[in-house]
Amino acid sequence: MTASRVLVLNSGSSSVKYQLLDMADSSRLAVGLVERIGEETSRLTHEPLTGPGAAGGKRVTEGPIADHAAALRAVSAELAADGLGLDSPELAAVGHRVVHGGTKFTHPTLIDDAVLAEIRALIPLAPLHNPANVTGIEVARELRPDLPQVAVFDTAFHSTMPEHVARYAIDAATADKYSIRRYGFHGTSHAYVARATARLLGKAEEDVNVIVLHLGNGASASAVHGGVCVETSMGLTPLEGLVMGTRSGDLDPAVVFHLARVGGMSIDEIDSLLNKKSGLLGLCGDNDMREVQRRAEEGDASARLALASYIHRLKKYIGAYSAVLGRVDAVAFTAGVGENSSQIREMALAGLAELGLALDLEANSVRSPEPRLVSAEYARVAVAVVPTDEELEIASQTYALVTG
Ligand code: AMP
Repeated sequence: MTASRVLVLNSGSSSVKYQLLDMADSSRLAVGLVERIGEETSRLTHEPLTGPGAAGGKRVTEGPIADHAAALRAVSAELAADGLGLDSPELAAVGHRVVHGGTKFTHPTLIDDAVLAEIRALIPLAPLHNPANVTGIEVARELRPDLPQVAVFDTAFHSTMPEHVARYAIDAATADKYSIRRYGFHGTSHAYVARATARLLGKAEEDVNVIVLHLGNGASASAVHGGVCVETSMGLTPLEGLVMGTRSGDLDPAVVFHLARVGGMSIDEIDSLLNKKSGLLGLCGDNDMREVQRRAEEGDASARLALASYIHRLKKYIGAYSAVLGRVDAVAFTAGVGENSSQIREMALAGLAELGLALDLEANSVRSPEPRLVSAEYARVAVAVVPTDEELEIASQTYALVTG
């Protein structure tokens, strides 16, 4: 029997998302989520999708889960109850989503002590994310020391950006000393969607230039030239770029000095303001795009402003990346907003006929879980809606590495 299963772990600051996939046919065997780790009200939602447990549907367990180690042990027990445990000989590897790979990690990497130490050393660049990723790796290694563990980095796909794109125009020695540059994030999603878009066009990835718009609660754009990322909107951290659910995206860095000097705010307060209380939430009090759209339709002025600001920033990036790529074959929308909101797609592309962009309004209004083209027949540039699948991409990269 060939081991063909991969467990994908995505450890956040207070959560662990997981999926067990069978790479023989890319099917999902189980999915789940542990939320509110460290609180009294932690919750584990586990859903077996195959075997005898599947008929029972989701199982929800509530009660305190102290830390990530306890969370992973609980996940392991749930999987074992369905005969899908970490001890299964069919498990080929664990794939870990790691948010920051710095300049060191540009490919999926087999984890050993040295690699783990390097990921730990990157914590100052991603203080909110990398610690949880490190714990996830440590616990999974403890549970199955013999099993290959692979780190798949959110930054890796963007590591191909040319130096003059990745560099900020600041003092070079200071930038080098503190590892300050554009890294970019959501890389697994951008990679997956760019490839799926080429497939949708029936072309080789090398022959296609795509602008990928990953519009979820976090949002980022990338310019992908023949399968290679040449520019992306997120920077040193996931704060830069588009207007997001709670993050400001681009702003004059002097806003930070002003808030400190004139507003008397501490660095941590400003960090929290820009990352957690800005974007759509800051502009209108809601970060869920559905709610913003509903309020805007009812004529709410601040929701309309938030929506207009969101759309304006998107258009700016579409224009900028059209210039960066020179020739654009497709614009691809993905993630919660990009996949589900025909209205956002319509607003973002309105008035861009000069760039070769035009929607087929009827095709655009159809909801579907499938990748699809929604551009007008006459349009020079294709518009695609591609549901992203970061877990499948992590599992594929992990499996490819361990089966070499
Ligand atoms: P994600 O981070 O990819 O899970 O995306 C989350 C975002 O997608 C939230 O802001 C949701 O409001 C948004 N979203 C989900 N469904 C829709 C929809 N039908 N219309 C607009 N936004 C949606």
